[in-house]
Amino acid sequence: MALVVVGSVAYDGVETPHGAVDRMLGGAATYISLAASYFTPVKLVGVVGDDFASEDAALLASRDIELTGLERVPGGKTFFWSGVYSADMNDRTTLRTDLNVFADFNPQLPESYRSEPYLFLGNIQPALQRSVRAQMHRLRLAGGDTMNYWINDFRAELLETLKGWDFLLINDGEARLLSGQSNLRRAAAGIQAMGPRALVVKRGEYGAVLLRGGCHFMAPGYLLEEVFDPTGAGDCFAGGFMGYLAGRGVALDGAEVDFADLRRAVIYGSIMGSFCCERFGVDRFRTLTHAEIEARYQEFKSCTAF
Ligand code: AMP
Repeated sequence: MALVVVGSVAYDGVETPHGAVDRMLGGAATYISLAASYFTPVKLVGVVGDDFASEDAALLASRDIELTGLERVPGGKTFFWSGVYSADMNDRTTLRTDLNVFADFNPQLPESYRSEPYLFLGNIQPALQRSVRAQMHRLRLAGGDTMNYWINDFRAELLETLKGWDFLLINDGEARLLSGQSNLRRAAAGIQAMGPRALVVKRGEYGAVLLRGGCHFMAPGYLLEEVFDPTGAGDCFAGGFMGYLAGRGVALDGAEVDFADLRRAVIYGSIMGSFCCERFGVDRFRTLTHAEIEARYQEFKSCTAF
């Protein structure tokens, strides 16, 4: 049972205190898919130009990520984004966003994707997220993320979209913006009333809080010795979270719902986000093994037990 992932596939230029790379594989759907692929089969939906390099497609394929839904626009250029990080890497300034073929992205799912049970909607226009969800007819679990721009300028569309989601991943500032509440618990209750019954509030290097019904669970961020490049960490969190749930066959609707599964999913999200930061771009996923993921899971256990 596969996870369908929708979002940007990009080339990124990134500068951190550890160095700079002018152009490398990036994009939210890329990071989500790579992280999720350690837990479940993944089918990617995105768009690229004919400048998309065969070695980049090969990296995704090497993780068994299906690319039938990755549209190639002849003569088009792949989405390009670049950014520079502050000295402590907690802040990022976007230098360039060239939407290119992503500007006309109108995802049409291949027939072979439509009956899959799991869907993660990366941060794209809410109406497009809704259109993708409507193309899938046997969903057990659907969710995604969003950002300030959609919350501020496309609010009505976003609220309509959220009605169809089981969970939402969002950072704490966005949760406050979306709900109009500064208290995180009240913010979560407000968002849950909009549709998503489970909410994961990401707090960057400080970890994440999972909220569902009256329960909540707090996961710390992993303490890395060195952060090389935080680009994609939030997306890898999403990939680890959703990939784990899909691999377990979890559904929020059914009798098999288990808050413990959701808690473990948040820990796997933190783990995949932390690995992502250890190298530039997607490089960590060229060598990352299941054994390393499990070792970090055990480390998480021992450093949070009391
Ligand atoms: P994250 O660090 O988790 O926020 O994700 C960074 C990734 O998001 C980069 O690889 C970018 O290519 C991608 N990205 C940046 N801006 C946008 C945008 N406006 N829409 C979609 N993806 C974007």
